[in-house]
Amino acid sequence: SAGREGYIEKTKTVCTYCGVGCSFEVWTKDRHILKVEPTYGPANGVSTCIKGKFGWDYVTHADRITTPLIREHGTFREASWDEALAHIASRLTEIKAKDGEDALAFIASSKCTNEESYLMQKLARQVIGTNNVDNCSRYCQSPATMGLWRTVGYGGDSGTIHDIEAAGLVLIIGSNTAESHPVLATRVKRAHKLHGQKLIVADLRKNEMAERADLHLHPRPGTDFIWVSAVAKYMLDHGMAAQGFLDEHVNGLSEYCASIEDFTLEVAERETGIPAETLKLVAQMIHDSSGTCILWAMGVTQQMTGSETSTAISNLLLVSGNYMRTGTGAYPLRGHNNVQGASDFGAMPAHLPGYQHVEDDEARAKFEAAWGVKIKKEMGLDNTLMLHEAHKGNLKGLYLIGEDLGLIDANATFTQEALERLEFFVLQDVFFSETAKFADVVLPASPALEKEGTFTSTERRIQRLYQVLEPLKGSKPDWRIIQLVAQALGADWNYVHPSEVMAEAASLTPLFAGVSYERLEGFNSLCWPVALDGTDTPLLYTDGFAFPDGKARLYPAVFIARTEPANAEYDLHVNNGRMLEHFHEGMMTFKSAGITSLAPDSYVEMSEELAAERGVVTGQHVRLVSRSGAIRLRALVSSRVNGKELYVPMNAYDPGQMINFLTGSHTDPSTHTPAYKDVSARMEVLPVF
Ligand code: SF4
Repeated sequence: SAGREGYIEKTKTVCTYCGVGCSFEVWTKDRHILKVEPTYGPANGVSTCIKGKFGWDYVTHADRITTPLIREHGTFREASWDEALAHIASRLTEIKAKDGEDALAFIASSKCTNEESYLMQKLARQVIGTNNVDNCSRYCQSPATMGLWRTVGYGGDSGTIHDIEAAGLVLIIGSNTAESHPVLATRVKRAHKLHGQKLIVADLRKNEMAERADLHLHPRPGTDFIWVSAVAKYMLDHGMAAQGFLDEHVNGLSEYCASIEDFTLEVAERETGIPAETLKLVAQMIHDSSGTCILWAMGVTQQMTGSETSTAISNLLLVSGNYMRTGTGAYPLRGHNNVQGASDFGAMPAHLPGYQHVEDDEARAKFEAAWGVKIKKEMGLDNTLMLHEAHKGNLKGLYLIGEDLGLIDANATFTQEALERLEFFVLQDVFFSETAKFADVVLPASPALEKEGTFTSTERRIQRLYQVLEPLKGSKPDWRIIQLVAQALGADWNYVHPSEVMAEAASLTPLFAGVSYERLEGFNSLCWPVALDGTDTPLLYTDGFAFPDGKARLYPAVFIARTEPANAEYDLHVNNGRMLEHFHEGMMTFKSAGITSLAPDSYVEMSEELAAERGVVTGQHVRLVSRSGAIRLRALVSSRVNGKELYVPMNAYDPGQMINFLTGSHTDPSTHTPAYKDVSARMEVLPVF
């Protein structure tokens, strides 16, 4: 209920930050955000984290862009919406005529709504005629989705936070849950402390969850696949597997067993550094628990072997019978607020909405009938391939929404060169980001508090957000902008509210068949798949797995070794990830005064041992040099990191300090997700002045 001048308004909406999907009331007076008040939400009860509570100054920040900008002779000038839209339409049309529709590409945003992702892929497929459309799950969770598609069928968390709470054992791998998904972590902490839940954490750093855990495993970087497979083999070899479950519900046991033959505990100890006795204990704890949930995140996925390790994790859950009931299952924790939904609603190069494959003739025919065009059967380019093609000069035009791609894609130097080489680049965002410097047209968008729509959280929970403030004068909600671009290109689109977009998506997508704004009204939420009658599915697989015969598949995954292990020249491993206070690259949270006062800067965390060896003290500047580039940071000496492993947050106030000037261009071969965690560097200690 945005609105009446001089009055305090209270509007309930969904958090724009992480994938936990907390909801709360925002109190406003005119355009001032007075406070955020937690009210009951299905994901969070009445909790929020620091970002949800205090991270909103960016919405009213003076740096918001409020007019379209067009680059002319190397500088930007302000333009009217009409002029900017006409310019975009004419340049996209020109490139399509000259180089074909596949010389253009589109990237939707995981910060935007489901409806906006749907419209972005519709713009690419219906109006332009290309499948070159993707979103930033390519940078984080695509490997987890791949692992689940291979083994159990649906690319989403098996259950809800409630199901995680009900587990006897929670195993967290490569996730800094307390900082990245704080409210979800609180629920695990509570179950561990009060309800006897066991907790195992495998992570390079002794992060907060590892501190609390019953067992902390410290594998060598990039080796989770090996110990996970070794635990599964040990359980199979020692009568600890769920034989009845495997017989009844799972295919592929013999091929799988052959594929993990070499992964003995001895091999695992040698390769990962985790003692065989500790791995036996892990197997025993899984065996003894009433149910095990495995939570994982980018420590697993952002590796050369990300899809393979995600597959290995799901295989272990199958071997131990940990699917099909509450307190069990696979929980890849989604980073952005709507990273799940951006993929669900079809902003993917191989998938129409609801994971209907572009090669599926029936699915294509349905969309073709609805949209009145032919859709290509060949999958399009993903984000990684788009940038590689742009770098080679083959991709000519890019339309990007809500992502500071020039800083958040791996190997920022390469990415920025690729953006520079585009003939035409449209960026739609809330601020003039680093990436905007490469654009030809910048369109001012409105953030989530200024629009309506839906987000899908890590629980596959579709929730409505409600407009808290009117769009800042001059900016527009992304769905309106995409529609204006489509109309400028001649499309007959006339959506007056996102609910109409959802109705269209639901009518074409079995996964969301029963989703409607009427059903979501009043803070009802729906976990997909949602049947036509509105029945949703908080817990997946209770009636069988998402394959035609209802059986899961043990998938023989293959370990892929790291590309950049430390060597004599680059002797330190550089781990990286989120921190509690800031979100992602930090574009929004660094504009929130309260948060920035707590965490003003980036840093490199190093062990006491390494600091002593190199003569570094906390606060001193060091320079890290990798095969791809160099950054300068302050040191933070801590007991959380080990030996020659460093930790650098993925956000920085100064763009020149971004971790992606160190990361390289190598990717997980199955998904092209960059191996952000596969970096080594040398450290130069800078003099103290
Ligand atoms: Fe927002 Fe995530 Fe914090 Fe919840 S846990 S308030 S969704 S950032």
